[in-house]
Amino acid sequence: MTLRIHRPSKRRMLSLTVQASEQTSPHFMTVTLGGDDVHHLQQIGFDQAGRLFFADPAADDDVFLPSSERWILQLTLQGGNRRPRVRTYTIRRFKPEVSAFDIEISLREIDPSERTAAPGTRWARAATPGTKVAFLDEGHSYAPPGTAAWQLLAGDESALPAILAILERSAADLPAEVFLEVPVSEDIRTEVTMPPGSTMHWLPRTDPDAKPGTLALHAVQQAQLPDGRFYAWAAGESSMATGIRRHLVSKRGVLKSDISFRGYFSHGRTSL
Ligand SMILES: Cc1cc2nc3c(=O)[nH]c(=O)nc-3n(C[C@H](O)[C@H](O)[C@H](O)COP(=O)(O)OP(=O)(O)OC[C@H]3O[C@@H](n4cnc5c(N)ncnc54)[C@H](O)[C@@H]3O)c2cc1C
Repeated sequence: MTLRIHRPSKRRMLSLTVQASEQTSPHFMTVTLGGDDVHHLQQIGFDQAGRLFFADPAADDDVFLPSSERWILQLTLQGGNRRPRVRTYTIRRFKPEVSAFDIEISLREIDPSERTAAPGTRWARAATPGTKVAFLDEGHSYAPPGTAAWQLLAGDESALPAILAILERSAADLPAEVFLEVPVSEDIRTEVTMPPGSTMHWLPRTDPDAKPGTLALHAVQQAQLPDGRFYAWAAGESSMATGIRRHLVSKRGVLKSDISFRGYFSHGRTSL
């Protein structure tokens, strides 16, 4: 994959607690994380994301949360039962006035018999104020070249927080053509801040068993796109992200260097 991650020049492991959590639509939970450590976080925005370390809601033992950027070493020194779960989430919204920031986690249906499946989703549903976590900033990938006249943003629900955050911070002279797939129409946001001249194509799934990202990929393949050189950013289910990039390069002649794309998860496979 062609991907340049812009890591913060300085970062540290943040010890935080859940301040609030709210289910905002059928498949989205907003979780506010906060604490004094937030002032060590560099506010870059766009698709800035980090690793969230948390105790699995099904864990029986006291879980260790890392305190250092060398978390892999710290975790290898812990017994298997004490290791936290780790998932990556985008910083949706900074709230410096209250030393906090929001993440938005997309929720999936989980078979209740699968006690340990999809720990990120189960954690989001169970998170209550006071729950302890650790968070490590992993930077951002969005970086439009100065030559772009407009931008194409595409993704599924896992990339919704990143796409909305990118739109809010985008340059006013960089209109966006956005293809955003969501699980159901009730997950569509009615108020979105975008650069002037932008168009949002919401793509709610009609088949609950469809592979995420399929609609977004097809929509980009079929789209009547504006003229002029553009920057493309795509993220979500891996085959969607690679499919969009392949289409743009082979069918639309877009330079690989004008595309950032990233697989956020692989359909049918749990994150490690
Ligand atoms: C840089 C980056 C930023 C990210 N930002 C966000 C974010 O802001 N919000 C967010 O919700 N996710 C985000 N993700 C994706 C998230 O980390 C993955 O979806 C993660 O796999 C979720 O963990 P889980 O424990 O719920 O499911 P897992 O245990 O990893 O997977 C369980 C099953 O669910 C499927 N699955 C996993 N994620 C999804 C999904 N989103 N939609 C449908 N099926 C899925 C898997 O294919 C697997 O079959 C981001 C990923 C990266 C790399």
